[in-house]
Amino acid sequence: MAQIVLEQGQSQESRYATGRVHSIESMGTVDGPGVRFVVFTQGCPMRCAYCHNPDTWAVGSGAGTSVTVERIIDEFESNRPFYRTGGITVTGGEPLLQPEFVGDLFAAMHANPNGRVHTCLDSCGYAYNPKKPARFDKVLAQTDLVLLDIKHSDPEGHKALTRCAPDNILAFGDELARRGVKVVIRHVIVPGITDTEEECEALGRLIAPWHNVVGLEMLPYHTMGIVKYEQLGLEYPLKDVPAMDKGRIPALREAVMRGLRQARAAERHCAG
Ligand code: SF4
Repeated sequence: MAQIVLEQGQSQESRYATGRVHSIESMGTVDGPGVRFVVFTQGCPMRCAYCHNPDTWAVGSGAGTSVTVERIIDEFESNRPFYRTGGITVTGGEPLLQPEFVGDLFAAMHANPNGRVHTCLDSCGYAYNPKKPARFDKVLAQTDLVLLDIKHSDPEGHKALTRCAPDNILAFGDELARRGVKVVIRHVIVPGITDTEEECEALGRLIAPWHNVVGLEMLPYHTMGIVKYEQLGLEYPLKDVPAMDKGRIPALREAVMRGLRQARAAERHCAG
């Protein structure tokens, strides 16, 4: 990935909502299909024990850099030939903390005079507010693909792992299903926390009602984020947890699919 330098205090006038951005990478290959321009928004309300980006957590006017949609479009256009099979991804932090900015950015990318750009939202879903759905109308109408992180299938396990309840996340999943937005589910497999067949089967049952799910990424936990905690003077919550054995991932993936198939078979049985 190539990082684009964001200077403080250079924000221009804009007719769009302005974003608070942590960083921008011009050649992303892991956050959505193809080669992608990746915007990391600033701010996240969750505190996942394995978070690799604790430097994106802080919210407020002093955190991150103020960046306009026009600036992002300019940077994108300077490398446009690379994104022919990819597009733009907004990740974080948690992008849904800034739905107006992401909605304006994605709308501008879709209406781009040089050609429509594929838009991908990488979100934990927690900042979605089901009591204020109108606030999220634009961003969801302009999103081609969502990478939705489901951290844990069990509400108590979710709270222990992220310090947050999963209700808003599940409401977000339901809303995406209602709208028919394509979703890829992401699940980090952590030894001793999310690496049992029971947990993975339960995840399959949880996502089974969402027929808009088009993919599943099982991400083995690794320890590369520890160095950031040291730099920030933060204690790393999983310091005694080893990296996940990648050899176990296919069986755990099959457990998710088994749970999903069982739930869908029961759904058909009830409907019939
Ligand atoms: S949702 Fe993502 S950015 Fe936020 S704490 Fe969890 S891993 Fe970190």
